[in-house]
Amino acid sequence: MKKPFVTLEQLQTITQQYPTPFHLYDEKGIRDTARALYKAFSWNPGYREFFAVKATPNPQILKILKEEGCGTDCSSLTELMMSDRCGFAGDEIMFSSNDTPAEEFALAAKLGATINLDDISHIDFLKDTIGYIPKKISCRYNPGGTFTLGESEEGFQVMDNPGQAKYGMTRPQMTQAFRRLKELGAEEFGIHAFLASNTLSNEYYPALAAILFQMAVELKNETGCHITFINLSGGVGVPYLPDQPANDIAVIGEGVRRAYEDILVPAGMGDVSLCTELGRFMLAPNGHLITRVLHEKQTYKDYIGVDACAANLMRPAMYGAYHHITVMGKEDQPCDHQYDVTGALCENNDKFAVDRMLPKIHIGDLLVIHDTGAHGHAMGYQYNGRLRSAEVLLQTDGSTRLIRRAETPEDYFATAIWD
Ligand SMILES: *Cc1c(COP(=O)(O)O)cnc(C)c1O
Repeated sequence: MKKPFVTLEQLQTITQQYPTPFHLYDEKGIRDTARALYKAFSWNPGYREFFAVKATPNPQILKILKEEGCGTDCSSLTELMMSDRCGFAGDEIMFSSNDTPAEEFALAAKLGATINLDDISHIDFLKDTIGYIPKKISCRYNPGGTFTLGESEEGFQVMDNPGQAKYGMTRPQMTQAFRRLKELGAEEFGIHAFLASNTLSNEYYPALAAILFQMAVELKNETGCHITFINLSGGVGVPYLPDQPANDIAVIGEGVRRAYEDILVPAGMGDVSLCTELGRFMLAPNGHLITRVLHEKQTYKDYIGVDACAANLMRPAMYGAYHHITVMGKEDQPCDHQYDVTGALCENNDKFAVDRMLPKIHIGDLLVIHDTGAHGHAMGYQYNGRLRSAEVLLQTDGSTRLIRRAETPEDYFATAIWD
């Protein structure tokens, strides 16, 4: 079962200081996750996690991750600016963007970030933009087709569609790109691929690693390029459903090590550093959306109206994503009531849960919506004039700290032209 990282008593104290709704993050959980990840890859001396900023673009979260040895993975101008302002140095920033505007390449190059090119045409676009090709450069690969793992009677453990994804270069383009980059002065080469999202399987990274390691050996033989890093990107998932087993990052790290020993080491490429760009795995379980019940409405269904809405957490409305809900203080009561849990947007998809079995809910109850630490606040918007909520950090000593204030009507009005 899913257990919140706070108790009802703690939340009653916290909500006296910070009105609901707000996102709450667990500093200890974030640090523990980062440490387990680094331990799993400690066999690779150059290993680094570049946290995918888009998952949780909060400077205080980034600073915690920086203390744990992480860099950042950026895909936009403002993410680059935020990384710079948080004190990440050039080699601690990965720039994995697509459809990239010139000014973003220019800033990435100025900061000394490692640029990961999404397309072969971006080589000359980059050179024309900044006037040179950086000595260290990476290319994103897309094998096309479908990517599947672990077929069983219930279907595939992992299934995704790289052939329908807009990202990355084809296999022949990878060879051409490396040759062209080498001609233009690149000296250290990297390879990146992101083949499946939110995978719940200890096999995803090892399978991806084997594909990339094999290609690295081929590219080295074909082009003579010195491949110094391989980027496994994101995609290691988290169990949103209460009965799903979590990934075991130690097993994943060991699986990648075996592929490394089998493929890279015999090819004389035992000096390759690995990188990851995890977002969801690092943060999702370490965040809760805290919301209070405002209304109960009984018509054709039984609705629980809360003070958060899809503007605070878009995933259920956008993808029908499941987020577990704990009714605080009622953890031991039977889930014998069926509810739709809704926000206030004038959009019928503004529901955190549909036909969810929960304990009997009363007005004023506090709800924890689980696994909102990644792509939660980050995907917030202001539709219907609903404003983005605060973000609060539950620190390792049990105290709390406001790490982003809630938006105010003045923020909402600030970009309007009034006369
Ligand atoms: C979104 C993204 C990630 C992070 O993905 P998760 O599923 O959160 O791990 C990493 N790299 C790139 C390029 C991305 O776009």
